[in-house]
Amino acid sequence: MDVIKNVVCPFCGTLCDDIECFVESGHIVKTRNACRIGHSKFTHKKGAVRYTEPLYRENKKDDFKKIDFDTAIEKTAEILVDAKKPLIYGFSATECHAHIEGMKLAEKIRGIVSNTAEVCHGPSVWALQDVGYPICTLGEVKNRADVVIYWGSNPMHAHPRHMSRYGVFPRGFFRSRGRKDRILIVVDPRESDTAKLADIHLKVEPHKDYELISAIRSALKGFELQSETIAGISKEMIYETVEILKNAQYGELFFAMGVTQTTGKHRNIDTAIELVIDLNAQTKFTLIPMRGHYNVNGFNQVCTWISGFPLCVDYSRGFPEFNPGDTSVTDSLLRGEADAMLNIASDPGAHFPQNAVKRMSKIPLICIDPHETPTSVLANIILPPTIAGVEDTGTAYRMDGVPLELKKVIDPPESTLADREILKRISKKVEELL
Ligand code: SF4
Repeated sequence: MDVIKNVVCPFCGTLCDDIECFVESGHIVKTRNACRIGHSKFTHKKGAVRYTEPLYRENKKDDFKKIDFDTAIEKTAEILVDAKKPLIYGFSATECHAHIEGMKLAEKIRGIVSNTAEVCHGPSVWALQDVGYPICTLGEVKNRADVVIYWGSNPMHAHPRHMSRYGVFPRGFFRSRGRKDRILIVVDPRESDTAKLADIHLKVEPHKDYELISAIRSALKGFELQSETIAGISKEMIYETVEILKNAQYGELFFAMGVTQTTGKHRNIDTAIELVIDLNAQTKFTLIPMRGHYNVNGFNQVCTWISGFPLCVDYSRGFPEFNPGDTSVTDSLLRGEADAMLNIASDPGAHFPQNAVKRMSKIPLICIDPHETPTSVLANIILPPTIAGVEDTGTAYRMDGVPLELKKVIDPPESTLADREILKRISKKVEELL
């Protein structure tokens, strides 16, 4: 049995880089250090449908038929070239070179290109463009942070090793006693498993994050709070929290969808960033978004290098335009404008609003995904890729913006191609047809 060490886990934005994979007869049979969800990414689950050949059907009511790769690429290119408002969406579970190819393709077909941040941290990335990005690395959190906040985030379930590797439990250079050297504050309306571990649980009322952040900022600046309770939290508790934040040697704010997707959206993040800026007048404080898919951050980086915007980029007028709500994939589907869609490395069928999924079921849909998903079953064409980080190399950006090299651990099925290669071939065909 071969043991491949220091493998990066391509599942969540924590990108744990200490995984060991045990390989026997071309299969990963065991992992060490991975959490349960990371482990399941490396090992093929019994019953999961893996696509190993391109599939096609003209009519969505028909069954899929196997076709060769060249024909599938040609049909894909024809659909994208014929469409008036084509969409390219996904990217968060693949590596950065595929992102580059996806951006080039979007420009050629004059389509809208975006990633899954539309339905998770999109508000964070446009707030960062509004008011800045006081970030640090996860290594700094581990070595320095003595006050850690998880706001609208439940890493016990969504990022299972985050607290043990970086946020709460590990011994760091200046935090040699690990958990005993840190105060953990959790802001969540629910009694989540993360909240159960907290020193302070601020049980904010749902959708009142903006009010609570504003009250903390006011108290921090020395104003007297006028209400006894704000956003479900007593003013005494707010004053107590502010004292802890002010007296931190190094504070960290981790935040996730519980605050980006509640009322206020990117304005919540605007004001959270302003809070961190205010705190830096008194101590050292930084923030990191808890990114979900392992390379959702990578797409926002690549998209920004290429177009100047992090997501929701519309090339229909020949140059990049960014106006979320107008140039977003979800809204284009909801308005019924989109007339073809290429989905790669994501599952909008499971996460988009119902009416957007209905539109996806009516228009020509191409899906590049290794496994059967609620999206792939709506497709006309399925193109089978290798799995980056397991069967192929690549680059991914951790939630703190650190790029890591993904390893190839085992060989992919014979007839699959890397995502970047599939997109490159579609681009080439598009060029021939234009
Ligand atoms: Fe993989 Fe995330 Fe689990 Fe780490 S915490 S092993 S990156 S799923």
